Amino acid sequence: MLNDPRSHGLWEKTAPPAPETRPLQGDVTADVVIVGGGYTGLSAALHLAEEGTRVVLLEAKEIGFGGAGRNVGLINAGMWVMPDDLPGELGAVHGERLLDLLGNGPRVVMNLIDKHGIACELERNGTLHCAVGDAGLKEIEARAAQWQKRGAPVSLLSQEETARRVGTTAYRGALLDMRAGTLQPLAYARGLAHAAIRAGAVLHTSSPVVAQVETASGWTVKTDKGTVTASWLIVATDAYSEGPFAAVRNEQVHLPYFNFATVPLGDNIRRTILPGREGAWDTKEILSSFRMDQAGRLVFGSVGALRGAGTSIHRDWARRSLKKLFPEIADIPFETEWYGKIGMTDNALPRLHQFGRQAIGFSGYNGRGISPGTVFGKVLAEHILGRMPVEAMPLPSTDIATPSFRTAKEAWYETGAAVAHLAGARL
Ligand SMILES: Cc1cc2nc3c(=O)[nH]c(=O)nc-3n(C[C@H](O)[C@H](O)[C@H](O)COP(=O)(O)OP(=O)(O)OC[C@H]3O[C@@H](n4cnc5c(N)ncnc54)[C@H](O)[C@@H]3O)c2cc1C
Repeated sequence: MLNDPRSHGLWEKTAPPAPETRPLQGDVTADVVIVGGGYTGLSAALHLAEEGTRVVLLEAKEIGFGGAGRNVGLINAGMWVMPDDLPGELGAVHGERLLDLLGNGPRVVMNLIDKHGIACELERNGTLHCAVGDAGLKEIEARAAQWQKRGAPVSLLSQEETARRVGTTAYRGALLDMRAGTLQPLAYARGLAHAAIRAGAVLHTSSPVVAQVETASGWTVKTDKGTVTASWLIVATDAYSEGPFAAVRNEQVHLPYFNFATVPLGDNIRRTILPGREGAWDTKEILSSFRMDQAGRLVFGSVGALRGAGTSIHRDWARRSLKKLFPEIADIPFETEWYGKIGMTDNALPRLHQFGRQAIGFSGYNGRGISPGTVFGKVLAEHILGRMPVEAMPLPSTDIATPSFRTAKEAWYETGAAVAHLAGARL
């Protein structure tokens, strides 16, 4: 994407083509203008267009340019916040709504993939949250108990069963969540774009929005080559926000996260490392994640940016860590490497913002945006179609707030991860 192999790595190499799209030219009208071509914007576009709404979506660069084309591809259920803590954070009403909505989020994603025949390497075999040490075990035990109380299909795996499923004895146990799964993230975004266009939405790429003006009946948004005038504006720019929506990005602290993908593993090794193709990550504070793609490449990631000295530090760390976890692939070459920015909020929960009359958006998914982006895009469509007032939404609408010491925190994340990986911190 944009000739940068470190931005979308493996996903760009293996995703089916994006639909053909052009920059916005001239002045057009619509019922709804959506800014941002990631999961949130594309899901809103698809769900609105399916109901006959005239939608124009403007993407600054390419479909899936932001987090949607760079992530690990873990289709998670729920957020990082413990289920029992959510009502305390958000109040009982919003907390229970959010738990219900996001607990069922992976099902919404998988149903959408089935309905629109999206070729995105979907695996429905669940995810494994792998426990490191006693503290990790305690964490997954508590998480499992809290989800089980709510009837979720999650279970705790013994050390032996975890070793059998992951292919390493490094973990004390794992939480298996059968609601979850994995996909090829850029392929999913492109598939949503194809489906939205088939439903009648108009998508323009290379069309950064540079200004928006509130009018008597709605909004006019401007790019350098045209305008869209519409009754409603959806802001779906999240961590990659630029131009007039920079405040959305400034509300978040960016956490860099990288991935290395190996060449495809041989059949024998595939029978020992993640033979069930669950997505996996561990309970460490500087966590690691690993998953297979359809061709049997192991995608291995952690916190850090692949730039400057970080590139070789994180690459060396990844090599050492893989060797410890899976000695049988100690010398396997990495085929691709890339990184992106995860938008973290101060309470690790997403945000709902209203940007004026009939202007609305969700953001801040804290590295768990595949299900929430898809589900919240649908919620935005329902809101605009008059079926879900703001009071019935899964989150309260809040003003944008900028966290203190944001820049310093971001520098700390990037440097701290490099220092930890340089020191070889692992398991
Ligand atoms: C490295 C990494 C790993 C992650 N791993 C996971 C994971 O395993 N599972 C998971 O669920 N989530 C994961 N996430 C998070 C997930 O990718 C995001 O939460 C998700 O992509 C957010 O979707 P979105 O549509 O809201 O925003 P994005 O996908 O970021 O899309 C926003 C789009 O808006 C566009 N834009 C910005 N400003 C303008 C403008 N002025 N005009 C026009 N367009 C504009 C951008 O170019 C971008 O394409 C990860 C993220 C990263 C970076």
